[in-house]
Amino acid sequence: MNRPLRIAHLYPDLLNLYADKGNILTLQQRMAWRGYAVEIIRVQHTDDAKPGEYDLVLLGGGSDREQELVGRTLRRNVAEWKAAVEDGLPLLAVCGGYQLLGEYYQLPNGTKIPGLELLDLRTEAGSPRLIGNIAIQSEVGIILGFENHGGRTRHRHAPLGTVISGHGNNGEDGQEGVRYKNVIGTYIHGPLLPKNPALADMILQLAMDYAGISGTLRPLDDRMEQAARQAFMERRMELAPAVLQHK
Ligand code: GLN
Repeated sequence: MNRPLRIAHLYPDLLNLYADKGNILTLQQRMAWRGYAVEIIRVQHTDDAKPGEYDLVLLGGGSDREQELVGRTLRRNVAEWKAAVEDGLPLLAVCGGYQLLGEYYQLPNGTKIPGLELLDLRTEAGSPRLIGNIAIQSEVGIILGFENHGGRTRHRHAPLGTVISGHGNNGEDGQEGVRYKNVIGTYIHGPLLPKNPALADMILQLAMDYAGISGTLRPLDDRMEQAARQAFMERRMELAPAVLQHK
């Protein structure tokens, strides 16, 4: 009998701006449908995280103020975070959480909020905010959702995908998000995983492998999800049918 997959939801009390809870529910449900047990660990902002004790970590987005508070807490055990990430800990960071993986996030007034420095990545606030529906091409097909960020992010790693429609990391280089070892950072929310089941499964498989839980995730009946994706792309994004065929 496998032990439960331990998923840490970091600071849901502060980083809850973009329905990040939907990401947790999606991961939990897709495991339950396949008969796997999951344990959700909700880490409150007064508590130190314990990266060595998790199989998968979710870090959401928040306002600049919350980002600063969370950054301060996270940096208390930066060495543990570095070791876990280098060891292959799967980590999904969205928006403000994505920015916190890097060296700093520079506020509009020039103040820098230091990040965890897990990645060779920097973010600087710019104007206007980059807002709207977004679709990117990635290794798991098209990832879609919504973005809303002032920060322009630049890094020296692989991106999560290339922008088909929308702004992405900085509105200039056509890249969106980051991929380093088993770390995924992105500006896409809304939330991200209910709309992108292939990405949810990729992350779950990474977590199972990291945890040493045996098994391959069997495909689920995602017809409802696929229909919702199709409608979203056609009606909200007006993407041509040729694009949709890439899936
Ligand atoms: N500080 C971030 C920005 O606006 C917050 C991003 C987010 O969580 N949407 O760039």
